[in-house]
Amino acid sequence: MVHKYNDPGCRRRSRLNLSGILPRSTVNGPGIRTVVWVQGCPIRCSGCFNKTSWSFFPVNIVSVKELAARILATDGIDGVTFSGGEPFAQAGALASLGDRIKEAGLSLVTYTGYTPEQLMKRRRPAWDHLLRITDLLIAGPYIAHLACTDTCRGSSNQQVIPLSGTILPENGTPEKSEKPENGVEFTIGADGSIITSGFPNQPFVKRLARRCGG
Ligand code: SF4
Repeated sequence: MVHKYNDPGCRRRSRLNLSGILPRSTVNGPGIRTVVWVQGCPIRCSGCFNKTSWSFFPVNIVSVKELAARILATDGIDGVTFSGGEPFAQAGALASLGDRIKEAGLSLVTYTGYTPEQLMKRRRPAWDHLLRITDLLIAGPYIAHLACTDTCRGSSNQQVIPLSGTILPENGTPEKSEKPENGVEFTIGADGSIITSGFPNQPFVKRLARRCGG
């Protein structure tokens, strides 16, 4: 169950502030994955595709326990991907969720706008916990002039780091895509809403916006 209300408790380990969730995706890490997008990002890359996720104002407050149950009831997934917003801004709650996911034998991919050096330097217990249970880390800010067509990252400065060895670079490292629309996924919700996910490049986004009259 996802509650929609203003709750300052979203920073606690037992609750998350989400910008969205997609039960099944094939463009956010290897295999079929549930994607959890958290709300709030302090990094604010220029050229970010998802500026509505920057605010830390509560959007969808959900308990870790309920979210874990929902994810673990999804058939046929290989793992879960944490993205954002900035996952490390809610590392405590994501680490609690990640523990339940790993206990169920699913793999964990985590995206972050922080560089690996920044993550190591700060030595925050919750950050270390989330790193410990992450199988594949994609780290670094989005830099528009380094935009690339790799299927798992938006710009070539972002590092794809296999932390556990469960997801090896040949599986997790994105291959170059010759087609600009590769790695983009559109999901139509039960209410008719459309979720766009993946790593479209700028020409593709502009073309799509023109076709949609944007
Ligand atoms: S880290 Fe991600 S969500 Fe945050 S500003 Fe950069 S691209 Fe956007």
